[in-house]
Amino acid sequence: MDPNCIFCKIVAGEIPSTAVYQDEKTYAFADLEPQAPNHFLVVPREHLVDITELADHPDLAAAVVAAVSNVATQEGLEHFRTVLNTGAESGQSVFHVHAHVLSGRRMTWPPG
Ligand code: AMP
Repeated sequence: MDPNCIFCKIVAGEIPSTAVYQDEKTYAFADLEPQAPNHFLVVPREHLVDITELADHPDLAAAVVAAVSNVATQEGLEHFRTVLNTGAESGQSVFHVHAHVLSGRRMTWPPG
């Protein structure tokens, strides 16, 4: 755990969150500032900065992908967009890797 990481604190229960799914390796919760009617974040419990670090842990990468799918199934999301921002220029503001799961409205392309 990184003591300065808000998502580590959320995983540890030190910062409140609305859990939607959890298992041994991952935790999923509602985004505080939803950008769609359904907006969830899926994180590995272990502190990894971004997808490039996650790639060094294939078991955790697979667990995050499975958790995204489980969240979608559980929440009845027929269509959804999954986003992993990498680096501040891409829009990453929390440096604990997370998959956004957005649904409930028509998505546009290209993304902003
Ligand atoms: P990103 O900009 O890709 O790093 O995404 C970070 C996301 O975390 C944003 O969508 C924020 O709204 C969300 N967020 C930040 N703090 C919290 C929190 N305490 N609980 C839930 N979501 C949060």
